Amino acid sequence: MSMEQTVSVTCPACQAENACTLWSSLNADLDPAAKERLLDGSLFEFTCEACGHTALLNYEMLYHDMRHRVMVSYCPPERAEQRMAEFEEIRRQNEAAGVSMQDYRFRIVTSQNALREKALIFDLGLDDRIVEITKLYILVQVDRDHPDCDIGDAFFMEHEGRYFFYIDGEENLTTSIPPNMYHMMEQEYGAQLAAQEEEYQIDLDWAGRFLLG
Ligand SMILES: [Zn+2]
Repeated sequence: MSMEQTVSVTCPACQAENACTLWSSLNADLDPAAKERLLDGSLFEFTCEACGHTALLNYEMLYHDMRHRVMVSYCPPERAEQRMAEFEEIRRQNEAAGVSMQDYRFRIVTSQNALREKALIFDLGLDDRIVEITKLYILVQVDRDHPDCDIGDAFFMEHEGRYFFYIDGEENLTTSIPPNMYHMMEQEYGAQLAAQEEEYQIDLDWAGRFLLG
């Protein structure tokens, strides 16, 4: 189920009160329209009805994609351990009730962009671990070809069935992912990944540890 609440938000520009919907929990299957707004980046946007000022709202969220059997918790880094403990508890309670959680994936992210990225990856039926490994390969290439880019974050995106990474750096750039690359990575690392213990934080650091491991 989803949990949304309407709260009053004071516009930082004109001090007008605006009614905003916050989703502490968003179920992608039950609220597909809200899921679409998460995917297109508008869910956290605030636009003042009085003066048109825009800002981003920031609050913790649990995203649940039942169809792809995944839960993603968005929280600040200092709450990550608490969220992991809650995931363990969800897993324990379900197993105790005879509901197998074996193939359920639990993820923790600490930025809105990462939440949006995870939601998209799982919505497309992809494996975020393969995506992060692919991202690492591509970023190594980008770093070599554009040494002055000073790469920051990079996020997976999709447009009309084509995959690419949006790279946040000195200059922002997008790099398309060759059409068969995801599949090749899956072939290369699938068996090794299947034997891995599940981890909650799947990001570039994780990919680096995995490939060096
Ligand atoms: Zn305003």
